Amino acid sequence: MAREATLVIIKPDGLKKSLTGDILSRLSQAGLKIIAAKTVKVSESLAKKHYGHLSDRPFFKELLRYITGQLHGENRVLAMVYYGESAISQVRQIVGATNPEEADPVSVRGAYGRILTTGLFENVVHASSSAEDAEKEIKLWFAPSEVVVNLYPCKVITLEKVEQKVWA
Ligand code: UDP
Ligand code: MG
Repeated sequence: MAREATLVIIKPDGLKKSLTGDILSRLSQAGLKIIAAKTVKVSESLAKKHYGHLSDRPFFKELLRYITGQLHGENRVLAMVYYGESAISQVRQIVGATNPEEADPVSVRGAYGRILTTGLFENVVHASSSAEDAEKEIKLWFAPSEVVVNLYPCKVITLEKVEQKVWA
């Protein structure tokens, strides 16, 4: 099996419940490398791109409120790229099934997820579910310069008059 990359996001409930340390140590058992990481304030636009394929599902609006932090008063997620042998399936295994009630109780979602009264699965982490999704998601959340392994083909462009915030 070849090395692959996968996007992992600790969702706002994971941060609110201070589960980062536990989730990272569970993931470290897979023997993968973290090759990118950052905290992100999730905009409505990023949320819609990330979950766009679910836009016709009844829980979509609530899902956007979840991932943008409006449900938890926590407008922050931790986004990471894990890399190594069978990274996608290894991480999905540790994370557990989408529905926290169906997830293996020793998985992250089985241990810490819950179903809200609205029916939304508040399930602590996101993990890419295929190589195709992983590529799309990593390209959406990270720029090539933020990832320490050259995962996908890149090009160099010259930008003019780009405004950028720098330390004063
Ligand atoms: N979700 C939900 N109800 C469903 C399916 C999904 O609340 O019936 C939410 C849940 O938070 C899930 C996210 O939408 O993590 C994305 O759904 P997907 O089917 O991609 O599941 P995942 O890949 O996260 O396991
Ligand atoms: Mg998915």
